Amino acid sequence: MKLRQIGEFNLIDRISKGIRLSRDTIKGIGDDAGVLRYTKDRFLVFTTDMLLEDRHFYRKDKPYLIGRKALCVNISDIAAMGGVPKYAVVSIGLPGSLDVKYADELYRGIKDTAKKYHIDLVGGDTICSERIIINIALLGEVEKHRLVLRSGAKNGDDIFVTGKIGGSFKGRHLSFTPRIKEARFLTGNFNVHSMIDVSDGLMADLGHILKMSKTGAVLFEKNIPISKDAENFESAIRDGEDFELVFTLSRKEALRLIKLWPFKTNISRIGKILNIEEGFYLETKDKVLRRITSKGFVHF
Ligand code: ADP
Ligand code: MG
Repeated sequence: MKLRQIGEFNLIDRISKGIRLSRDTIKGIGDDAGVLRYTKDRFLVFTTDMLLEDRHFYRKDKPYLIGRKALCVNISDIAAMGGVPKYAVVSIGLPGSLDVKYADELYRGIKDTAKKYHIDLVGGDTICSERIIINIALLGEVEKHRLVLRSGAKNGDDIFVTGKIGGSFKGRHLSFTPRIKEARFLTGNFNVHSMIDVSDGLMADLGHILKMSKTGAVLFEKNIPISKDAENFESAIRDGEDFELVFTLSRKEALRLIKLWPFKTNISRIGKILNIEEGFYLETKDKVLRRITSKGFVHF
């Protein structure tokens, strides 16, 4: 059996079996970041993401933006937990033939982004490799009352997404803004039941919320904000790397949220959480109910 036959998520399921955790780990594998015991009123949140040349970027892309992206994808995961990023370690593999200027620019992207988000760059590792590879691990903190997991969605919740979905490979994947301030506003002012950032595709990532929360959902095609860069609706909801937030809250909170939302980044109410027995549906523009699956971006 080859990895591509089981896929990324089944591999992670296998990896996560048989791991014994201490009482200091509040949440292990299975959310956007691990959650660790810290102080009386805060948790640590700990995440890592890796970018590989020809997979997540190309050598011809601006190295500054590649460095920026490497940190922003991690910030996006901390945002999805309701937290703020604090400390980063950066590991890079670079070919010996690479221009020094390229490496400098890549790091300038990382350092400028760290400065912008008040993240301390405290270490890393450097190796020689044929393809450029960048891995960042990011440690952040979250007030206990602000922590949001993937597993808290409740029947009747409204489902929201920030920004627009699809076509990110045309350039947005290198220039997106992680939704930290939006997430902090949400978790500071509303009872957000569940949240995730869209890295694997809207369907796949909403699928993670449904699976972890043991719920179903119905999505309204007419409300899903599709980017003008997207080829079509189908690819927009399946392609990855949007780095928008998907979150759910009760109808009462949703109405209050729509009134109070202060940002330029728009939010759209794209669906409703259902009981698990009701399944996962898309209500098309012509009001037809179509069963959908959470198959998104496949990594193998
Ligand atoms: P995200 O897109 O939010 O980074 P992923 O879909 O990549 O999340 O991963 C899902 C969960 O599996 C996360 O909790 C992540 O930390 C964990 N995970 C992914 N790869 C590994 C691995 N190789 N070993 C341990 N945990 C992993
Ligand atoms: Mg994530």
